[in-house]
Amino acid sequence: MTLGWRDRIVVVGTGPAGMAAADELRRLGFTGELTVLGDEAPYDRPACSKGVLSGHQKPSDVRLPASEAPMDLRLGRRAVHLDPQNQVVITDNDEAFQYDGLVIATGAAPVVPAGWPIGEPGLHTLHTLDDAWAVRQELYHADRVAIVGGGLTGCEAACAVRGLARRAIIIDSKPTLMYRALGETVGALVTEAHRAYGIETRLGRRVAEVDRCRNRWRLTLDDGEYIAADLVLVTAGERPYTDWLAEAGVDIRDGIRCDENLRVYGTRDVVAAGVVARWPNLRFSTRETRCGQWIAALEQGRAAAGSLLADDRPVPPVTLLPRFWSQQADLRIQACGVIDPRADVALTRLRPGRRDAARSGLLATFYRDGVMNGLVAVNAPHAFTSSTRALLQDVPHDVIHQRAVDYATGEYSYSA
Ligand SMILES: Cc1cc2nc3c(=O)[nH]c(=O)nc-3n(C[C@H](O)[C@H](O)[C@H](O)COP(=O)(O)OP(=O)(O)OC[C@H]3O[C@@H](n4cnc5c(N)ncnc54)[C@H](O)[C@@H]3O)c2cc1C
Repeated sequence: MTLGWRDRIVVVGTGPAGMAAADELRRLGFTGELTVLGDEAPYDRPACSKGVLSGHQKPSDVRLPASEAPMDLRLGRRAVHLDPQNQVVITDNDEAFQYDGLVIATGAAPVVPAGWPIGEPGLHTLHTLDDAWAVRQELYHADRVAIVGGGLTGCEAACAVRGLARRAIIIDSKPTLMYRALGETVGALVTEAHRAYGIETRLGRRVAEVDRCRNRWRLTLDDGEYIAADLVLVTAGERPYTDWLAEAGVDIRDGIRCDENLRVYGTRDVVAAGVVARWPNLRFSTRETRCGQWIAALEQGRAAAGSLLADDRPVPPVTLLPRFWSQQADLRIQACGVIDPRADVALTRLRPGRRDAARSGLLATFYRDGVMNGLVAVNAPHAFTSSTRALLQDVPHDVIHQRAVDYATGEYSYSA
């Protein structure tokens, strides 16, 4: 790649997207000033609901080693303002960082129901390493733990809690656990397996109120039921960290709106990467979405670096394959592609007739308009690997090209 004219690139965010972008800029030969701003030192965030909670890992085990690529890493700094006209980022200690190329990789913050006194003893979100370590300490003295939100993080946390011989109860408004991540059919079978493991559930319910009662937390559900818990973990989803961009003139409805190369609309010389970026993944459609997964964040970070250095020259669209895996008690869950709860699902049980379908192995294939778009396997790693090949195949160039044209001409819809 011929390098452009840039001298100063600033990366905001030290998660996988930001760090991958910084590494990739150097790998591609950028020799100018490279400043990385982040409020946290890099660590393996997925470990927060796994090894750190279960006690198998300490915070020092999950910190990520410093990058070997030369960069000016400024930690403990929070970007509070972006002035895209003058190309400057301002941090919370009033420092100004001038750039001629900017990568925004500020990730997402946990969603907290309005008015909940998060941070009081026994009431936590589970998003950062500090959260996970605080929860881990309080688990020693807890008997019953309520988990509000039954997505991937909530289910992993519940399994860690059960593994420590504590009682765990998950409350979620969806009809099954991991509904969005696995769809309803597989979600229902995983829910069964988790109940058999001893995790209680209240599904299709919401928490209407939370208050303290006799040294415990009391959750009042929308059907009037009370749940008492020593410890409450809120894993109710995330929202992109875009508050600091409120006056930057960019579209930040549900993430930063980017084109198919992760260039931020309405700015010059700015790209976004990771879960904060909303872009059309033309591998699947022209619909703009965000992807909240670790591997996708790494891949987007690298791609965004390439788009930035390419300036206005055409680069291939970012058409990554979303994928994640999760170990939950004795379930190994693997997923890739788009898991759309409205898609047609073909379910194969590896050992038909067994009552514990999830534990015995299953593979679900998701189709939209007859095309396979997604895949979920539970305890079926070999079947998953062989079926993934079909999804990993490159989408034909003419299909991507047509989608890019449709996108550029506005033949797409954005639904919030
Ligand atoms: C508990 C937990 C478990 C998970 N487990 C899995 C898993 O098993 N598999 C999987 O694929 N994904 C998992 N994820 C999701 C995955 O961790 C995220 O999708 C991924 O970290 C996103 O990377 P990112 O770089 O976009 O953002 P982040 O990792 O969120 O990093 C963004 C960084 O930017 C910082 N920042 C934000 N605003 C500013 C600002 N204004 N100035 C400076 N710095 C700022 C943030 O504090 C953060 O350090 C998990 C997430 C959580 C919370």
